[in-house]
Amino acid sequence: MITENLEQVRKNIDEACRMAGRDPKEVTLIAVSKTKPVSMLKEAYDAGARCFGENKVQEIMDKHPQLPEDIQWHMIGHLQRNKVKYIVDKVSMIHSVDSLRLAQTIEQEAAKHNVCVPVLLEVNVAQEESKFGLKMDKVLPLIETIADFPHIKVQGLMTIAPYVENAEDNRDFFRQLKKLSVDIEAKNINNVSMSVLSMGMTGDYQVAVQEGATMVRVGTGIFGERNYVR
Ligand SMILES: *Cc1c(COP(=O)(O)O)cnc(C)c1O
Repeated sequence: MITENLEQVRKNIDEACRMAGRDPKEVTLIAVSKTKPVSMLKEAYDAGARCFGENKVQEIMDKHPQLPEDIQWHMIGHLQRNKVKYIVDKVSMIHSVDSLRLAQTIEQEAAKHNVCVPVLLEVNVAQEESKFGLKMDKVLPLIETIADFPHIKVQGLMTIAPYVENAEDNRDFFRQLKKLSVDIEAKNINNVSMSVLSMGMTGDYQVAVQEGATMVRVGTGIFGERNYVR
């Protein structure tokens, strides 16, 4: 089932790229495996998945040693500062940087482990009160503050769009994030790249790809419904 689902999602991404005149190679599919057992991740791995997304530090620590080393782990959930030390040398990207304090902690822990961590800034484009993430106007000031941190590399922006029945309802939020990244890119800030746009989930990834996503985070569409919401 997972193999077929992966194939279908990849097809849908290709189709969205075709509609938008984009090269499918520009879009990385992150298989969001939170709450799912290692056996299911192995199945996805065997079907070609190499990027996995998790939103809990504990789950990354549990799963990481049980799976092949060429997997790239993406931390996509809210990250508590006291837990950064457990994953800073295990993840290939943190998508959820949304405060100076968190960035400072990542910098300190990355320095201790002698690694440089690729990060995205999480933006609450839709301004939902229930969601983490920076307001649009706070993104550039934070980037300017952390650009020179030697153990962090800002690579782009991430957003979690609202849960909607109709994916079209989120198109404008994806557009806004794309525009923000283009505006920041134009400032040519040293050590800062805006090459990654992490947006789009099971319900809306095709629209996100049409609007410029370079990473889509798909969970349910690959692994099926989760037993509990988180
Ligand atoms: C759970 C989660 C996803 C995947 O959600 P689906 O709707 O199951 O595809 C994507 N991004 C984040 C940040 C998540 O927490």
